[in-house]
Amino acid sequence: RTALLQISGLTIDTEPGDTSVRLVDGVDLTVAAGERVALVGESGSGKSVTARALMRLDGSLTIGGSIRLGDTEILAQTERRLSTIRGSRIGMVFQDPMGALDPLQSIGAQVSEPLRQRGIRKKDALRRAAEVLSELGVARAHERLGAYPHEFSGGMRQRVVLAMALIGEPEILIADEPTTALDVRVQQQVLNLLDEVTRERGLGLLLITHDLGVVAGLADRVAVMYSGRIVEDRPVRALFADPLHPYTAGLLAAVPRLDVHLPRMTTIPGAPPSPALRPPGCPFHPRCPVAMERCASETPPTMATADGGRRACHLDQGSGN
Ligand code: SF4
Ligand code: MG
Repeated sequence: RTALLQISGLTIDTEPGDTSVRLVDGVDLTVAAGERVALVGESGSGKSVTARALMRLDGSLTIGGSIRLGDTEILAQTERRLSTIRGSRIGMVFQDPMGALDPLQSIGAQVSEPLRQRGIRKKDALRRAAEVLSELGVARAHERLGAYPHEFSGGMRQRVVLAMALIGEPEILIADEPTTALDVRVQQQVLNLLDEVTRERGLGLLLITHDLGVVAGLADRVAVMYSGRIVEDRPVRALFADPLHPYTAGLLAAVPRLDVHLPRMTTIPGAPPSPALRPPGCPFHPRCPVAMERCASETPPTMATADGGRRACHLDQGSGN
């Protein structure tokens, strides 16, 4: 499949100067047309800042490398052209639906806004907004266009945000922790909805999450990020069945499983390093249960795996490559 989104050698640094810190350290990642990729890591791994860089939302950060959407180099666009791309080619859903909505504007005005920006007449834009909302399971949507965000539940608000992201018919949807702020009952509904809309529309998806448990049913491929780098990137089934990086294995061990009733490790001991204090060699070595001497000094190279993925670790790949 052709690459829809192609991130190459992405670096993200805080403002230049003595205190500049590298938050993202050479990330390569592609999403093919219609492909659903999960970017997984603990808080502080650099996954959110990577997602925001795709839309150039953090103006104070220095971004290097390349981010291509089709033939468009995102890093070369003017702010004006970017805002068009945001509304029409990239749809975005964030963690907190309330934060993404304007409390003082009606649902109809907000969902139809991307179409209004393209010069579509108000009446037609509102009709389309009602259609998209009903496709996303908002009952009697045409009657509720005049409602305000506080009149909707958390799950309904996330549907509204999703409608705003989809109404411009983007090629790719970026969802950053889209269920984290929702209660457990609603989380699964929103995940099912994301599954449905991406499948039905053949939409590319980059799903950013700290929770490996949510990606199994939704992603084709999983990229695991640690301390600003991708440490493993493989087809979802292969990764779940046989993780090839000790960090991925640790994350997987913490995922609740219905078929295992034994006590389990709930977290990997220790915490991810602050980007300012990234350890030399493999950044995971202070927490790695199978670290070897050279892990503390030699950065592991990223190698292809037999299943078309890759990983960065000094351990032998075993059945892999
Ligand atoms: Fe562990 Fe070494 Fe592999 Fe890093 S390179 S994950 S420290 S074995
Ligand atoms: Mg985050």
